[in-house]
Amino acid sequence: MQLSKFGQKFTAQSGILQLMDDLGEALASGGEDTIMLGGGNPAYIPQVQRYFHRQMADILEDEATFKRMIGNYAAPQGELSFIKALAKRFQREYGWNIGPKNIALTNGSQSAFFMLFNMFAGEFADGSHKKILLPLAPEYIGYADVGLSDDFFTARKPDFEYIDEHTFKYHINFDAISVDDDIGAICVSRPTNPTGNVLTEDEIEKLTALAESHNIPLMIDNAYGTPFPSIIFNDVRPVWNKNTILSMSLSKLGLPAARTGIVVANEEVIRAIASINAVTNLTPGSMGAILALEAFESGEIIKMSREVVKPYYQQKAENAAAYIKKQLGDVDFYVHKPEGAIFLWLWFKGIPITSQTLYKRLKAQEVIIVPGHYFFPGLQEEWQHKYECIRVSYAQDEATVKRGLDIIAAEVRRAYLEGGRQKDEG
Ligand code: PLP
Repeated sequence: MQLSKFGQKFTAQSGILQLMDDLGEALASGGEDTIMLGGGNPAYIPQVQRYFHRQMADILEDEATFKRMIGNYAAPQGELSFIKALAKRFQREYGWNIGPKNIALTNGSQSAFFMLFNMFAGEFADGSHKKILLPLAPEYIGYADVGLSDDFFTARKPDFEYIDEHTFKYHINFDAISVDDDIGAICVSRPTNPTGNVLTEDEIEKLTALAESHNIPLMIDNAYGTPFPSIIFNDVRPVWNKNTILSMSLSKLGLPAARTGIVVANEEVIRAIASINAVTNLTPGSMGAILALEAFESGEIIKMSREVVKPYYQQKAENAAAYIKKQLGDVDFYVHKPEGAIFLWLWFKGIPITSQTLYKRLKAQEVIIVPGHYFFPGLQEEWQHKYECIRVSYAQDEATVKRGLDIIAAEVRRAYLEGGRQKDEG
């Protein structure tokens, strides 16, 4: 099969494809044999499942809503009743001056990033080429391959804060950041996938000012943030202004199969998203929107996120971090301070094998993790740190996570004992 450049680019082996293949295989096998600590699948939280089960049952009883849920194309901007409810909810929670014209839905926020990144970076009519600036790598693996042209991202290495013997936190190194004419937009995930980092208010203020002063958008990927799903363990408020593009999702709350992404932005950006939706999808699916409508109208979404989802993950994060620190207490390794999202980012300082080799050795023992080097899109220079880290999801039940962490700890210990840098088997 002879493929175009587009065909070749989007069918090549990519980190996100490896990750989603592993995830799909593990879930298809019923997850019985494999300890799946790799993908970003959220947990099945009983209260959340019960709530949406009830909502679905109510919809099935209500002929008109059921008809609309499965029988209508929505507008290219997305299901309007849901968009109106969202606008009201954001006004009420945060006092943002927004209306329905500031919100568009997409088939998952992943597809929103495909549209947004390619709107602001790549080839421009005047012949210039612009990139997306990721001010702090590591950053979300799902960004890495979405660019329609090459040389799409530029990223900066972070500063390190050492919190205790086995805990560290990344910060943006603002000294390394200059915004030149070749930057089309700035993007951060907050909380960050893969690290669980939450950029400080001060960092966000500085990025907001930087973007504004260069007249480029600041994209904030709020897939795990407030007010939903609230998998964020410190008390922060989301920020929005006309220069900010805030992306949200219903996935991490427990509805990844509903593929519902939400973009909050100025009207021009929202019109552009609606246009691209029309061309590529006609309209985004509205199953998730109609299923979640009541939760947004009543405010239950905020309550459930704050009172159920957040404590559920916070407890799991603390337990998993404490457990791996106990298992590897005598090893020179660090956990990134878990401040949100559903992952532990483990850094095995000076480990004599690459994280890709570690991934393969663990996969042979049916433990799936994601090797760290995929999370540095746009970082041109070589950096040993990339190959010393792995991402581990703690969303599974505690016994499974512990079994996985035991196997990881044993394999890591074995690698350090081998000593000397081994030939990469990756
Ligand atoms: N952004 C981040 C940081 C993520 O972790 C994910 C999924 O893992 C996404 C965006 C995309 O999620 P979805 O397309 O399910 O909304």
